[in-house]
Amino acid sequence: MAFDLFNPTPEHAQLREMIRRFAETEVEPQALEHDKSETFNLPLFRKLGELGVLGVTCGEDFGGAGLDAVAACIVHEELSAVDPGFALAYLAHSMLFVNNVYQNASDEQRARFLPKACTGEKVCGMCMSEPDAGTDVLGLRTTARRDGDFYVLNGAKMWITNGAISKSELGDAFLVYARMEGAARSELTSFLVEKGTPGFSLGQKIEDKLGMRASPTAELVFEDARVPAANRVGEEGTAMLHMMRNLEIERVTLAAMSLGIARRSIEVMNAYAKERKSFGEPLNRYGQIQRHIAESYAEYMAGRAYTYQVAYAMDLHKPGQRLDTDGVKLFCSTMGKNVADRAIQVLGGYGYTGEYKVERLWRDAKLLEIGGGTIEAHQKNMTRDLARLDKLR
Ligand SMILES: Cc1cc2nc3c(=O)[nH]c(=O)nc-3n(C[C@H](O)[C@H](O)[C@H](O)COP(=O)(O)OP(=O)(O)OC[C@H]3O[C@@H](n4cnc5c(N)ncnc54)[C@H](O)[C@@H]3O)c2cc1C
Repeated sequence: MAFDLFNPTPEHAQLREMIRRFAETEVEPQALEHDKSETFNLPLFRKLGELGVLGVTCGEDFGGAGLDAVAACIVHEELSAVDPGFALAYLAHSMLFVNNVYQNASDEQRARFLPKACTGEKVCGMCMSEPDAGTDVLGLRTTARRDGDFYVLNGAKMWITNGAISKSELGDAFLVYARMEGAARSELTSFLVEKGTPGFSLGQKIEDKLGMRASPTAELVFEDARVPAANRVGEEGTAMLHMMRNLEIERVTLAAMSLGIARRSIEVMNAYAKERKSFGEPLNRYGQIQRHIAESYAEYMAGRAYTYQVAYAMDLHKPGQRLDTDGVKLFCSTMGKNVADRAIQVLGGYGYTGEYKVERLWRDAKLLEIGGGTIEAHQKNMTRDLARLDKLR
């Protein structure tokens, strides 16, 4: 049988089939309602734990599925084809927290945090961005100071997905990047911080987002927060490497989310253009509509091949794949947004309403040009990496 880049093994094909069935039967029916109400569907999220994918890339010894980057892409693509907001909450938990802790924490910390994250008993996230530092992540100002068996953290984190699970309730556990007082700009230290830590609180749940409204976003505050020294991940000053390593899988799975958005948008516009008549002819007989559909499909397939090729070659244990992990997100995020935009155009007035899904997909698609690195950040990183190469492979 010919090699299938999108399902390289029978296990990948089975995983896709399982998640697609779950997405269509359980995620799709609730998507519009949770988008409108800006609420996180916790019971549905926990079902992902029953399916075994909350720790998709985490080792089986800590409750995960022990799968690879391709498997992670499959789950993100399939969930995003029906509900990108829900998929973003999944990404923050399974990639930004679970994968990060699995790759970078000690066995004792993994045993303490991962099994409950893999079942969904605990809802988790990662805190990098701050009110005054996003793209310039090394400009972060959250500080840590050692005090006996504790570290004392001060600062605020902004835009944290899963930071809250409702208007007033914090998420359960977070990987938090900070800097030891007086340390150099590049010397970050990360900590595992749990709900209930004295001095750690929910600043605000961020409401009225353009899209991704089914994923909760919050500002989190640290006011002399006392974090046990046993929750420091790695040595002081070494967390930048953890961050860089995890950003790579984050960007590939964010690209996979854009693929789900694009695929669904193409399906919707293709079906509509076959049926809807104008001047006595189906819309898909008109060249301008053909251009929307055909170009969308070609761009989607180009992005899909690039993303799965990068995921297939990816070693989750090592950094060093920044050029292409930034590359897939740069290409796919704008591609997904453009394809959803064309789908709205093909559907005319109907495309502008919630019923046909594409307006929601379009709103959700925009976030992928911002979160996990803006497209300008990818352009900067990639140009820097390319400047080191004389010839391309
Ligand atoms: C819904 C949502 C969920 C998120 N979830 C998380 C999360 O779970 N955890 C987390 O840590 N963060 C999260 N983020 C934060 C996200 O990663 C940041 O918003 C993003 O990195 C951009 O940072 P910023 O918003 O501070 O914008 P800025 O960095 O201030 O950028 C503003 C603009 O200036 C541009 N810019 C900045 N510097 C340069 C430069 N050197 N050259 C050219 N242009 C530049 C940017 O590209 C952008 O267009 C989330 C954000 C959103 C909106």
